[in-house]
Amino acid sequence: MIMKLDILRGWPRWLNGLHKSNTSNETLPGIFFKAGFFFYLYSMESIKEIYKIGYGPSSSHTMAPRKAAEKFKKGNPGITKICVTLYGSLALTGKGHMTDRTILDILHPTPVEIIWKPETFLPLHPNGMKFEGLDKAGNIRSEWTTYSIGGGDISDTGKRDPSDRIYSMKTMKDILEWCEQNGRTFWEFVEDHEPPDFWDHLSEVWKVMQEAVERGLEAEGVLPGILNLPRKASSSYIKAKSYKGTLSRRAFVFAYALAVSEENAAGGKIVTAPTCGSCGVVPAVLYLLKTSYDFTDKKIIRALATAGLIGNLIKTNASISGAEVGCQGEVGSACSMAAAAAEQLFGGTPGQVEYAASIGMEHFLGLTCDPIYGLVQIPCIERNAFGAARALDANMYSMLSDGHHIISFDTVIKAMNQTGHDIPRIYKETAEGGLAVFGKKKIREKKSNL
Ligand code: SF4
Repeated sequence: MIMKLDILRGWPRWLNGLHKSNTSNETLPGIFFKAGFFFYLYSMESIKEIYKIGYGPSSSHTMAPRKAAEKFKKGNPGITKICVTLYGSLALTGKGHMTDRTILDILHPTPVEIIWKPETFLPLHPNGMKFEGLDKAGNIRSEWTTYSIGGGDISDTGKRDPSDRIYSMKTMKDILEWCEQNGRTFWEFVEDHEPPDFWDHLSEVWKVMQEAVERGLEAEGVLPGILNLPRKASSSYIKAKSYKGTLSRRAFVFAYALAVSEENAAGGKIVTAPTCGSCGVVPAVLYLLKTSYDFTDKKIIRALATAGLIGNLIKTNASISGAEVGCQGEVGSACSMAAAAAEQLFGGTPGQVEYAASIGMEHFLGLTCDPIYGLVQIPCIERNAFGAARALDANMYSMLSDGHHIISFDTVIKAMNQTGHDIPRIYKETAEGGLAVFGKKKIREKKSNL
């Protein structure tokens, strides 16, 4: 019931238009069309879509292609060969992200040919993939083009097309007003909109996050891939124990973020928060707060709901895809989510939570996505550690305030989206710019000296 009232409250312009339409002889189908149109404008999908449990290293380059391959396989029985063409960013960094291996695994035992077209960017999205099913004579029996649009989701239009739009509002401004009018918090807003099994899902999410931290702290050795990058979480954790006070807090959060990100790089089980590449930030902050301040699991899970709401707003109004808007959309979003969660745990008001989330994103604006050899390792793993530390800073900074500030979260997200689209393509998950170029050169020199 509350949800229905929210829909009405969130649609003042629609109600206004409907009122006018009754006096101007608008037809019933026209009214329903208008209702559908405004529902599209004013809604978000479930937070369950932000937190997906799966395997690394990349939501856009492994989780989404896996989902696409499963769908094509299911819909095309009896095919004798499959050709998969990877375009643009998917092709440029697909080898490092193990996109081809994932597709081959899923489509096995059908013979598969992978065609790489890094120079071709399809018009609808930089992460395009085409599946073609062939018969014995080599004729194409079915063809399907789809796009990996970030956070492990696929879409045939290159845009988000949520099948289950359950939120009545999609701006922080409206949600803050709702909190103020009802005297309630962000997690209560989430609870009002999500289905009854939502808390069970978040419980499982939190369990998988903690397991990833703990596995990552135990694991040692070298991560897969050409970089021969040693894991650091385990030794960082040991060293963190020798620090005291705030330095210890900082050292532990680094270790926890490294632990989850290294698990992701190794193809381990993680939760997108909101993507695989940025999956270390939220668990690191929450694990630190649980172990250092004795917050109960119930409180942590409510904080996860608020963090999910922040991720959902960013996903809906901008993007969480590194290929679309750079790393500000991945680690920037994760930092914003973690900052909001921490703020809520420490008793921040909705206004302070909004401020923490704004700060968390604001200081990542313009951050490029430039993984060396397309592996989600350098700079991704360290970037998660710094994202987690910065989330704690944003939390503290906002806590010292009364929540008032000039640039709102909605404005920061608009700026992030615009900045992301203005960033040249080479800096958006193509491994053709920034650290990807200079780091690759350095690694080549090192290897030739061995
Ligand atoms: S640089 Fe950032 S956006 Fe790019 S793959 Fe790494 S974590 Fe993801």
